[in-house]
Amino acid sequence: MHDENCIFCKIAKGEIPTSVVYEDDKVIAFDDMEPLMPVHTLIIPKDHYSDVADNVPEDVLGHLFATVQKVADIKGIHEDGFRLLVNTGENASQSVRHLHVHVLGGGLMPRPND
Ligand code: 5GP
Repeated sequence: MHDENCIFCKIAKGEIPTSVVYEDDKVIAFDDMEPLMPVHTLIIPKDHYSDVADNVPEDVLGHLFATVQKVADIKGIHEDGFRLLVNTGENASQSVRHLHVHVLGGGLMPRPND
C-alpha cells in the first residue's frame, strides 16, 4: 500500500534521510523539515492514505493517535501541552497527500481565532 510518487511513502520506506523520532511496524514519526514551532513532528501511517477521510481503518487511526503520547514523551512536551493538526484536502491547504498528524509544541501557541 504505497504510492510510488509519494514523498512520505519514500520516508516510510527509509528511502529519504529523515530525523526519525519514533518508528514501529505501522507508523513513523519524524521532524518536519520546516518547523513552525520548537517541536514540530509529523506522524504518518506507513501505508498510504491520502488523508484522514480516505477510508482509513480504525485500527490504523487508533495506532496513529496512540503514537501521539509516545512522541510527546520523547520530545518532552507532554506536561506543558501541545497542539495536533490534521490538514485534510484543498480547503485546509494540505500540501502532502499522505495522511499525517502534526504535533506542535515547545511554546505558547495562540488560539486559532486570536
Ligand atoms: P501539510 O501542509 O500537508 O499539512 O503539511 C506537510 C508538511 O510536511 C509541511 O509542514 C512540510 O514542511 C513537511 N514536509 C514536506 N516534505 C517533507 C520532507 O520531505 N521531509 C520532512 N521532514 N518534512 C516534509
